Amino acid sequence: MTSSYSPSNPKPQAVWHALSADEVINRLGSDRQEGLSFAEVERRQAAYGRNELIDNGRRPRWQIFIDQFRNVMLIMLLVVAIVSATLDILESLEENTFPFPKDATAILVVVILNAILGYVQESRAEEALAALKNMAAPKVRVLRQGKVMEIDSPELVVGDIFFLEAGVKVAADGRLLEAVNLQIREAALTGEAEATSKDAEKVLPIDTEVGDRANLVFAGTEVNQGRGVAVVTAIGMDTELGKIAAALQEVEQEPTPLQKRMTELGNRLVWIALVLVGIVVVGGSLYDVSLLRELIEVSLSMAVAVVPEGLPAVITVTLALGTQRMVKRHALIRRLPAVETLGSITTICSDKTGTLTQNKMVVQAVATSSYCAKVSGNGYEPKGDFYNANTDDPAALYERQLLLLAGALCNDALLKQHAAEWVILGDPTEGSLLPLAVKGGIDLKALQQQAERVAEFPFDADRKRMSTFYRSESIPEMPATEPYWMITKGSPELTLERCRWRQVGQDIQPLTLADRQEILAENDRFAAQGLRVLGIAHRYWSELPPAASVETSEQELIWLGLVGILDPPRPEVLEAVATCRRAGIRPIMITGDHQLTAQAIASQIGICEWGDRALTGREIEKLSPEELDAATLTVSVYARVSPEHKLRIVQSLQRNGEIVAMTGDGVNDAPALKQADIGVAMGMTGTDVTKEASDMVLLDDNFATIVAATEEGRVIYSNIRRFIKYILGSNIGEVITIACSPLLGLGGVPLTPLQILWMNLVTDGLPALALAVEPGDPDVMKRPPVKPNESIFGRGLGSYMIRVGLILAIVGLSLMVWAYSYTSEHIEGGLDPRRWTTMVFTTLCLAQMGHALAARSSTRLTIEMNPTSNLFVWGSVIVTTILQLLLIYAPPLRRFFGTYLLSEIELAVCIGFSTLVFVWVELEKLVLRLLHRGHPLQLRE
Ligand code: ATP
Repeated sequence: MTSSYSPSNPKPQAVWHALSADEVINRLGSDRQEGLSFAEVERRQAAYGRNELIDNGRRPRWQIFIDQFRNVMLIMLLVVAIVSATLDILESLEENTFPFPKDATAILVVVILNAILGYVQESRAEEALAALKNMAAPKVRVLRQGKVMEIDSPELVVGDIFFLEAGVKVAADGRLLEAVNLQIREAALTGEAEATSKDAEKVLPIDTEVGDRANLVFAGTEVNQGRGVAVVTAIGMDTELGKIAAALQEVEQEPTPLQKRMTELGNRLVWIALVLVGIVVVGGSLYDVSLLRELIEVSLSMAVAVVPEGLPAVITVTLALGTQRMVKRHALIRRLPAVETLGSITTICSDKTGTLTQNKMVVQAVATSSYCAKVSGNGYEPKGDFYNANTDDPAALYERQLLLLAGALCNDALLKQHAAEWVILGDPTEGSLLPLAVKGGIDLKALQQQAERVAEFPFDADRKRMSTFYRSESIPEMPATEPYWMITKGSPELTLERCRWRQVGQDIQPLTLADRQEILAENDRFAAQGLRVLGIAHRYWSELPPAASVETSEQELIWLGLVGILDPPRPEVLEAVATCRRAGIRPIMITGDHQLTAQAIASQIGICEWGDRALTGREIEKLSPEELDAATLTVSVYARVSPEHKLRIVQSLQRNGEIVAMTGDGVNDAPALKQADIGVAMGMTGTDVTKEASDMVLLDDNFATIVAATEEGRVIYSNIRRFIKYILGSNIGEVITIACSPLLGLGGVPLTPLQILWMNLVTDGLPALALAVEPGDPDVMKRPPVKPNESIFGRGLGSYMIRVGLILAIVGLSLMVWAYSYTSEHIEGGLDPRRWTTMVFTTLCLAQMGHALAARSSTRLTIEMNPTSNLFVWGSVIVTTILQLLLIYAPPLRRFFGTYLLSEIELAVCIGFSTLVFVWVELEKLVLRLLHRGHPLQLRE
């Protein structure tokens, strides 16, 4: 093979549209029949790199770091640091000591650490999302060394011959070699929403604008309709899209509703802190000016205590871990908010073929005018017999053979043997007709080589039909009455509507009303057994109809017969549907298939009962929005629907207050996926366009995966609630303790800013991370979904936080009183305020350890839970307790944190007081249980 394309021959992209297809192929050193050789592909990959855009849309690293400081809470901490440093410096000036603003330094360290942590997490998250993007990278069908194969789009090289079909995102710039009804949406490039028609034959003037280059296709645009073959002319940054490559984030990184709510909460907390500080400082100094300094110190501590410093980090980590767990279960999250929404899904609308069923199609029955038989065989293996035939009359057999021949030709699938297994490349529905033809004795290889296809109307989910045109003389098996032979196959009803004749033996007879009824009755019999039925018809032409006339050409057809295809349900779907029901989620089937097939399969897997009402697309069209809303309340099976009906069904379900997950694969499903609360695209069979419109991609196309992802979503939601109540409860406790301390008139602030930061970040932060990976309540899929409009603080979470905060404060304050009087009265050597403050500090920290253990579940007692099911919680509690003790018993830490060496009795008293919070939370659970006796499932996390 020549390769005139070389580094010394730089790419003259601008002229491709002004050359004929053959010339382009020549210049690129490619070959129309064979494609590039593997060696040449390797050479080009090495020389020109991968077909990838360099992502300019990503934030530079320094920007991510600077962005961390845009947080009001951090700004408030910085202000606290400045005020605290000023106070410390003033104090050391008064005392003539060397100024060392310890609290301010610590706050600064925390702020910077927080920013670094945020930076690391965000850049990790960006990398993870980029990795997800690669997982979702489109595949391309190419021709290399004479073989058609599927590769990842980054592996394309200039000169590769690649194939285009509806729903595909064009992977590189290319010159068309062939285009059949090819319509491409070039909005990504030209901003033009309307699809443009392409034409491979045209040779255009050099100065044609990009938008008018009808013989070229461009990377990043989407095939709306039709089919094509093109040769790659430019890859990666050399493509037209590459030239405008900024802001091409395929995976969106918007904050989740929770993250937004947390930012709002942060802002609100800052305001609350300011108001509290104002009240304490102004009110207190009006009362007694000499207290001003103490009051300012109290205010600073309070401002630090209000801010849950560790919370944002824990939330980000939880969401990131959650998406990873979902990938392990084959659900790829494309938009982070989906993680949360998944937990509140109330309805899952699923396609049938491939999602609920296995998409392994085997023809089980055929029927023509005079012949009908069952077909045996295993998978796609082309071995099997026609049995139970009603006749062996040669005329009837002729009908059957014509049916098989037509099925094999009105077909874009390929039958291949991989090792010992027979597989289908392309659409399995079509693929099933290939082994069928071989079973009938047709030499498929010879047929595919000889038969010359001259035109086609590709399949589309609205027409539910496709047609191909062959030159009659290229098919020896066919009685050539006219130069062209057209074959149409599709949904039996819709194909039959277009028929006027029927094939009877070698004759063509008029199709009577009775014939039609008989065919439809046979169709229903097949469908009622759960078979997917295709109708096949044909017609002869003396000349080819113009390409645009699908409507007029698919008329006056000659009916050939029916094939019934078995596509058994996936075995795991039965359990998944049952799980949905238990979890209060309604599974709904929305399919393009026949009503009876849909009902049969739906009742086999438990989506409906046999005989339940099913709605068809046509019926939906006749309903007003109100009538549709009434119907969607009860109907769970929708058949013969087009993508536009899917959109109406989602909208109607949403009007009924449902939170809808909707699956889709075809290019026209994109609007319905966008409308759904969770748009789910098929990873294996889905088109690029659908994937891009989706929130989640099913890597295995399996319905059970949606259910698994929903379960993960629920677990994540309840874990988030769990650590929020844990962290914020502690913050509330700290604030109340500090705010009330001046009222006790003990003189001194119970917790310094440094100690509070320690609590918020370490003694609260570590256990909170451990609570975030709690495996989840075993009953999580036995309860109804959370109400869609429920606040994350809803269902008692807010009042719980306040209760626990109050208990913490009561424990802290009573200990404070006791410790103060104990240290001032019973201990020789005078009062050192660090002594009682250290006891308060230790008690609050240890109390949170007990709280962490109790917070693992809000329904089950700690002793009822398997301690090994979340060893992290125990680990974090042990580590944090040891660290807390080190703060008291390791001299350097003691000096730095300003703590006091506690005696055994003092420590024992702290431990005693701190267990009260644990006891309280456990008692609460018992009371709740009593209140919900007999309805345990009403209790939830
Ligand atoms: P689902 O939406 O559950 O995936 P489906 O795969 O049956 O259902 P479509 O692919 O839209 O939905 O198919 C609708 C109908 O079109 C089928 O019932 C069948 O009669 C017909 N059909 C499907 N594939 C082809 C094909 N390749 N050629 C001709 N007709 C087809």
